[in-house]
Amino acid sequence: NPQQRWTAVDDYTADRLIGEDAVLDAAVEAADRAGLPPIAVAPNQGKLLHLLARMQGARRILEIGTLAGYSAIWLARALPEGGALTTLEIDPAHAAVAAANLERAGLADRVEIRLGAARDTLRQLTEEGVEPYDLVFVDADKPNIPHYLEASLALTRPGSVIVIDNVVRGGRLADRQSTDEAVRGVQQLHELLAGDKRVDATTVQTVGAKGYDGFTLIRVEG
Ligand code: SAM
Repeated sequence: NPQQRWTAVDDYTADRLIGEDAVLDAAVEAADRAGLPPIAVAPNQGKLLHLLARMQGARRILEIGTLAGYSAIWLARALPEGGALTTLEIDPAHAAVAAANLERAGLADRVEIRLGAARDTLRQLTEEGVEPYDLVFVDADKPNIPHYLEASLALTRPGSVIVIDNVVRGGRLADRQSTDEAVRGVQQLHELLAGDKRVDATTVQTVGAKGYDGFTLIRVEG
């Protein structure tokens, strides 16, 4: 069936292009042991984020939705000396597992986990007048995606990149009749992007070990 084929191809490419990674394996094991849901990005998506951050020369990265810190490890590893990742998480149990994983990965010095509802912690960051982020990865509750786009725009600069995950939702993105709040969130995202001169964007559908979904890639234009 298609899912088996997608997983086999993910395994084939990951074996060759990613390989063994004891730190990432330990992070996944710790998340499983703590009973966290297995909803981190796939290894090839983690590496995509890592490569985007390096191509972007990102010194400051913002993540919305930490879980166990799996994608945070990929992103933080892309930072140059003196770089910083801020990652936002609402669930204290998730944040605790992430903190231990980042510590084990030797990345705790460059990652700040901010606990709280992202709408609140994003407002805090804006009020603090933090330096603009070069890259934002949005991977939390989907109904709030339109809000996270607006908050991300307030916290970035022209040339910054915003990646929003899980926007295709098994194809329901194109279902205009949907009343699902997550689907409504990603549809609203596209309506906002369509009419907004401050951004340029594309959405890519994906298949793989995590099934059928997709992400939106946004460049902040100013
Ligand atoms: N980015 C992670 C990775 O790939 O390793 C996965 C993140 S998981 C898909 C989504 C996370 O967002 C969960 O840990 C959840 O607790 C968190 N979350 C959900 N709603 C949130 C909110 N309103 N504010 C902050 N975090 C939230």
